[in-house]
Parts: sequence; structure tokens; C-alpha cells
Amino acid sequence: MPEVTDLELCQRCNLRPITNERPGTSDRLCGDCLAELESEMNALFRVGGALMQGFLSVFGAMPKGVSGELILRTMVANAMSGSEHPEAKALVARMRAASDELERELPGGRDNPGFASQLEERWRRLPLSGVSPPGGSA
Ligand SMILES: [Zn+2]
Repeated sequence: MPEVTDLELCQRCNLRPITNERPGTSDRLCGDCLAELESEMNALFRVGGALMQGFLSVFGAMPKGVSGELILRTMVANAMSGSEHPEAKALVARMRAASDELERELPGGRDNPGFASQLEERWRRLPLSGVSPPGGSA
């Protein structure tokens, strides 16, 4: 493992230094890799969510009013919830905060028929990496 220095290299490409140009952004990735990773993860959620929905539908197991993308994002959050990594913890906290906030805003909370689709929209807008706290736009 390389020593932590001002010029620590990105853990993904091992070519470019970590710049931390934006406050609250990743402490492991260069800006280019961070942008690529976010783009890849959003593609994963979109494409994987559609595949998940197709798979579950074949078996009559698709819950009503929920998309495959929302199921996949929830699965990723659950998988990350046991991680001690600060960025994983921050992402799970941002997702929970967005969910709790929406529950407070909508009449009927989680029972509101629009809850799932609006939650999916809010989760899409969250930054996937970085250690900014819930609600912090940093
Ligand atoms: Zn990189």
C-alpha cells in the first residue's frame, strides 16, 4: 500500500492523484474516476433495475408500485449498511435521511401511493460517493 501523502494516487486508476477538489468528495478517487464510477453506478441501477424487474415479473414476484431500480438501490444500501467505510456509511445515511424526509412530507407517509416513485427520484439525485452528511449538498 502506498503511503498517504499529498500526492496519493487514485485507488481506482492508480495514475492520477486524489485531488479532493469538491468538499465532501471521495478520499480514494481522482475526479475523473469519481465521475466514471458515478456514471457506471447510475447505469447499473438503470439497466440492472430493468433486468431485476423483468426477472421478478416472470415469477410473479414483482411488488406492486415499486420499480426494479428501487429494489436494486435498496439492496445495495442494505449490502453497504454493515460497512465501516466512511463513504459507505455516509451514503446509507443520506439514503435513509431522504426516505425519512419524504415520509414526513407526503400525506400518509410510506402508504402514500407516490412514495416509491418519489423516493426513487430522490435517491437518483443523491451523490453516490463522498462523506457529506445527510442533507449536506457540500
Ligand atoms: Zn482515478
